[in-house]
Amino acid sequence: MKILLTGGAGYIGSYVAYLLNKLGYEVAIFDNLENGHKWALKNNKFYFGDIRNFSQILEALSDFRPDAIMHFAAYIKVEESTKSPYKYYENNVIGSLNLIKAALMSNVRYFIFSSTAAVYGIPKQVPISEDSMCNPINPYGESKLMVEKILKDIARSNFLKFGILRYFNVAGADIEAKLGQANKNPTHLITRVLRAALGKIPYIEIFGTDYPTEDGTCVRDYIHIKDLAFAHIEVLNYIKKEDKSEIFNVGYGKGYSVKEIIKVAKKITKVDFPVKIGKRRPGDPPKLIADPKKLLSLTNWEPKHNNIETIIKDAWEWECYLNKNPILLEY
Ligand code: UDP
Repeated sequence: MKILLTGGAGYIGSYVAYLLNKLGYEVAIFDNLENGHKWALKNNKFYFGDIRNFSQILEALSDFRPDAIMHFAAYIKVEESTKSPYKYYENNVIGSLNLIKAALMSNVRYFIFSSTAAVYGIPKQVPISEDSMCNPINPYGESKLMVEKILKDIARSNFLKFGILRYFNVAGADIEAKLGQANKNPTHLITRVLRAALGKIPYIEIFGTDYPTEDGTCVRDYIHIKDLAFAHIEVLNYIKKEDKSEIFNVGYGKGYSVKEIIKVAKKITKVDFPVKIGKRRPGDPPKLIADPKKLLSLTNWEPKHNNIETIIKDAWEWECYLNKNPILLEY
């Protein structure tokens, strides 16, 4: 089976590409390398292009003729999306529309879309199931929900089947595969905490300690990249076998607070890095925890790395590797 991955030079896309390769799929990557890395392409067939450019996508699809597309390419920073909404709608929505149009024109049957728990906004209750109300509180979440709606309408009147994965908080790395998140200015908690342990940033700031949670800091459901990657393959298997479109939460169903993450990171790294209490970051829901029942019951996915210490240990090994090879941040 041939699969084209947009954003396949990025953190999640490159790891899914690696896994697909291992499982014997034929892979091609379409990426503009704005946030992705050349080294993350490995030996995959590569189309340099931008999803905002329809003819570039159509050309790649006409040449590669994939059976499925996995669409990772997107802007993903919540705070930035509140400051530059146009940028987010243009890339995430118009880019996706371009891709879907080219997919239909190229007779691509299966479409796997990277969505996010941010589509839920501030959930009324946790854990969150897929039929909970979607009410995004920032343009990032809104842009992903718009694409979900577009896919639903298009799948109703076409041969295209979609699998939507609503990611919770993805973290960790695979040091053997030499793949992980490589960001010069990371915003994600686990990466920042580990950069603080390495002394790359002077301290970690906790964004708010007055949330309605057990210790006052935000709670998230952190999922290991290795388990997240497998979910893509199992969802693709499911939509193929059942010839059906479906939406899945991808998380473990267990949450950790910011303070808990810091505590585990101090234990793993053996560094007592400085921590400061700061103000709330705009757009942060207090608690996001997945109800993964649907994924567990409909597909063959099972979590294998659902241990917060494993996630942080693997992320730590990767950060130490990056620290020794800073060139990886450059290309
Ligand atoms: N966070 C924090 N300090 C940081 C980075 C993040 O306190 O330096 C908090 C953030 O406010 C959120 C949680 O950690 O409550 C997870 O944030 P992250 O950006 O990793 O993921 P998000 O849930 O926003 O997708």
